[in-house]
Amino acid sequence: MRFDILTVFPDMLKGVLLESVIGNAVENNIIDIRFHNIRDFSTNKHRKTDDTPFGGGRGMVMTPQPVIDCHRSVTEGEEYVHTVYMSPQGKVLTQEKAKELAKLDRLVILCGHYEGFDERIIESIVDEEISIGDYVLTGGEMPAAVLVDCISRMIPGVLPEAECYENESIASGILEYPQYTRPRDFEGMEVPEILFSGHHANIEKWRREKALEKTLRVRPELLESAPLTKKDIQFLEKLKKEITSEGEGE
Ligand code: SAM
Repeated sequence: MRFDILTVFPDMLKGVLLESVIGNAVENNIIDIRFHNIRDFSTNKHRKTDDTPFGGGRGMVMTPQPVIDCHRSVTEGEEYVHTVYMSPQGKVLTQEKAKELAKLDRLVILCGHYEGFDERIIESIVDEEISIGDYVLTGGEMPAAVLVDCISRMIPGVLPEAECYENESIASGILEYPQYTRPRDFEGMEVPEILFSGHHANIEKWRREKALEKTLRVRPELLESAPLTKKDIQFLEKLKKEITSEGEGE
């Protein structure tokens, strides 16, 4: 899959996306990430990419010309390339949305800065706006990095196996079970005994119950749409009663 990221701060993204797992995937040609500096397309003699808002108000608005020309150059020769604008006004990113985008061959990602884009950019070249959460950041660079990372992990070859992401928190429908590694005893904190039993079925049961418990305590709303077995439901019912009686005992 090829990503084209349009930004006025390409170096902010390179540092994040060309390291670690995603960086290795780029090096191994599994994914292709291209960074485009919007400023290079500005026809303004000072290479400006923003201006004051019409109608007054604080801050600077990114002008249409450099963004649209940069987009034209990146998509030249193509009939259509899906284009997203990272924006706090977009639909909040979910694993499902990332999975859907991971099926594309190409994706263009636009990063805003300052007060964001002139609305005409959104009207003319943006297919969808995506937010990474209900808070506002300074620019779209970190959100773009989040989106590329989240999509890339689901592209075959980026992680060793699909299982690596399918069983993780959220993707599986609930939160993940607790993980432990060496040492077995760290400053008196011991790893649960069951993990050394060698009994795979019991370990799986323990992990499932721990995952359900964490989800019930921290993100109970996930349980409403999670794929649950009869055993899961029975376990959760029992746990809810225990939690209620814990509360009454306080
Ligand atoms: N004035 C805009 C508004 O109120 O909707 C906010 C602009 S914000 C300060 C600057 C840029 O950061 C946006 O154009 C967008 O690209 C990016 N950004 C900020 N928060 C974001 C979020 N939660 N998700 C995705 N992008 C975000």
